Amino acid sequence: MARLVIDQIPVLSDNYIYLVHEPETDRTAVVDPAEAEPVLQRAEAMGWRITHILNTHHHGDHVGGNLEIKARTGCTIIGPRADADRIPGLDEAVGTGDTVRLGAATAAVFDVPGHTRGHIAYHFADDSALFCGDTLFSLGCGRMFEGTPPQFWTSLQTLRALPDGTRVFCAHEYTESNLRFALSIDPDNEALKARGREVERLRAAGLPTVPSILAEEKQANPFLRADDPTLAAHLGLPAASPEAVFAEVRGRKDRF
Ligand SMILES: [Zn+2]
Repeated sequence: MARLVIDQIPVLSDNYIYLVHEPETDRTAVVDPAEAEPVLQRAEAMGWRITHILNTHHHGDHVGGNLEIKARTGCTIIGPRADADRIPGLDEAVGTGDTVRLGAATAAVFDVPGHTRGHIAYHFADDSALFCGDTLFSLGCGRMFEGTPPQFWTSLQTLRALPDGTRVFCAHEYTESNLRFALSIDPDNEALKARGREVERLRAAGLPTVPSILAEEKQANPFLRADDPTLAAHLGLPAASPEAVFAEVRGRKDRF
């Protein structure tokens, strides 16, 4: 069975690009290359040949390196079908129900609109690795630029349904500010407080807080808890639908 080697490259102010290496057949995918040069340098240093780009959505800090990496490596670019016209150099458009092969490894694709209308996530189940772009962050979720609360909440439920041990490789190091907001609306949540202590320890040591573990996100991330009566009560919305609670949490975070 494939054992992926995942390398995290911090770029710009707070983006993460990932190199996903499948050693058995020597394939390497880049997830969301904001820039080309740091990716090409790291791949060369690792001795890895880039064969694929996996894009989660169309924003510039996720596709900015597409064309240069493709020109330099001849790699195949895979991205969301619902946004095919907005992904530079796209070769294969995918959505829910599709799988992506990286040599001996396979990722299931999920449509997870809300941040953008054509956002997708890649789940390598055998390696417990989820690449979710700007849909789900540790203790947060992406801004709702192109979607609706019901759509975004459905997308987050899709990701929440994955196994507890799933490692959440999101695309930004936003955890500290997400933590401050989450504690402001959910101050008594013990799982959140525990994650908060871990986040503070990691950041003080200059270490990433990503990937996080999905089981912990399910308990601590307010955006995954819109159907939890405790959170709804804290927000003064005891009888509201999960969609309404999600909309309230998202709105409060936007103004935080
Ligand atoms: Zn984005």
